[in-house]
Amino acid sequence: MYIIHIATELAPIAKVGGLGDVLHGLSKELIRQGHTVEIILPKYDCLQYEELKNLKVEHRELWSFDGPHRYNNTIWSAQVDGLKVLLIEAHHPQYFFSRGVIYGCHDDIDRFIYFSRTAMEYLFKAGKQPHAIHVHDWPTALIPVLYRDMYIPLGYQAGGTILTIHNMEHQGKCHPHNLSRAGLRGESYLTADKMQDTSSLSLINLLKGGIEYASRVTTVSPNYEKEIQTVEGGFGLQDVLKKQQKKLRGILNGIDEEFWNPEKDSYLIKKYQTHGIDKQLLPQVLQGKKENRRHLTTHLQLKESNAPLVASITRLVPQKGPALLKHALKTTLEKGGQFILLGSTPIQSIHQEFALLQKELHNHGHGAILMDKDESLAHLIFAAADLFIIPSLFEPCGLTQLIALRYGTVPIVRLTGGLADTVFDIDTSTRPVAERNGFTFDFPDNKGVDWGLNRAIDCFKSDRSKWESLMLNGMKKDLSWKSATVEYLNLYRELKQPQEDGNKSKSNGKKTKSA
Ligand code: ADP
Repeated sequence: MYIIHIATELAPIAKVGGLGDVLHGLSKELIRQGHTVEIILPKYDCLQYEELKNLKVEHRELWSFDGPHRYNNTIWSAQVDGLKVLLIEAHHPQYFFSRGVIYGCHDDIDRFIYFSRTAMEYLFKAGKQPHAIHVHDWPTALIPVLYRDMYIPLGYQAGGTILTIHNMEHQGKCHPHNLSRAGLRGESYLTADKMQDTSSLSLINLLKGGIEYASRVTTVSPNYEKEIQTVEGGFGLQDVLKKQQKKLRGILNGIDEEFWNPEKDSYLIKKYQTHGIDKQLLPQVLQGKKENRRHLTTHLQLKESNAPLVASITRLVPQKGPALLKHALKTTLEKGGQFILLGSTPIQSIHQEFALLQKELHNHGHGAILMDKDESLAHLIFAAADLFIIPSLFEPCGLTQLIALRYGTVPIVRLTGGLADTVFDIDTSTRPVAERNGFTFDFPDNKGVDWGLNRAIDCFKSDRSKWESLMLNGMKKDLSWKSATVEYLNLYRELKQPQEDGNKSKSNGKKTKSA
């Protein structure tokens, strides 16, 4: 099959969070299973350019639209870890993608509406007819609307569109005039069955548009699929999702098992094998973790210790429970453990709060806070730690618990979203004992954190055989993209195939006139 992803992140060239990892892992597995994949991204100035191979101009002139204005774009192609990417360089007077950041500009809505329109214009002009146009989250959720209301009427035809929701919290709410800049009549989309926001009735909601117009909608875990249809998890769109339930599916993310493999991980000081793990191989895991920990603690000027090392690697935003992470740090240190937090945040007040705590921990010897985004350090921490804590208020899928499991690090998680689909409590789960791989708690409060953390630290200290079976169960879990990819392929196949439709795109790049 031929799949085109249109997205705003791709690991490792443009990664903010899990979305970038998902694009990378899913695309690689699709290719491995024999399919053709192209990924369209903005050509940000802050791309990790050293990861791009064969970067070259594919099309020098692609005219696109921003309201009444017409702007040229250059389309570049390149390879990223064997994946074909197409990068849109916008020659727009507002330098939409030359801001040194991926998100966080005052005009993000306009930036990504322009990107969505230009990406569709490119597919149309280039005559690309994939079986599926797969878009991700609010920044590209407008594409299914453009496809149906602008490009099909122009004679363009693909198999259909798929929207994957990686996070319900961010929906791209804007004014009708923002939408008009894409060439649609913004006001006419301000109706309940189209793009009208469910609480601010004068606003357009881009994510809602994607849900209403896409051929299929997926989200990143079966449990999150249920949660987003409730008042607590739907962020106002629960009824829209319930209405569209038939085309909604929860598909659990995997991880890229080549990139996240302690046996081949070039960021580690000591590599160790966790694939095909059994009891005989456990000593080399323990030795590997020990040596990585020694290196990490020396680097961070922590005292050498055999006490349990608890870690967290996260964006520090309200969703991730920053106050609960602080509490976990305090409890761990009180119980004689060590704690390392690697976190970055766009929120000034959270940054200040953690910077203060970082100062307090200076010379402490058992706790470290790193306010940074650092891939190499993240790998080392996953390998060195004994426990990994995720006290999220909500978590669509969560990748860090999966990575922790792969590295033999036992997760402690709040039972929400994909965390509840992947981590099973050693004491309370109803799953078979051989599947139990961590510690869970129900409520996102200090008591909940303590319930998970105390049991985990006590188990580490006083029940070695239970501890080792937890590690083994975690490392044995299949975390690959294989089965998720089969599920996505089934969805792609359910779409109407472009070849079966007589009304193929008439575009040849010359005759077409855009709306
Ligand atoms: P989200 O997408 O909500 O940020 P996920 O758990 O789905 O959360 O994915 C987070 C990804 O980002 C993981 O690959 C994790 O290792 C990485 N990550 C998060 N924070 C940092 C950081 N400060 N430094 C390096 N990597 C990070």
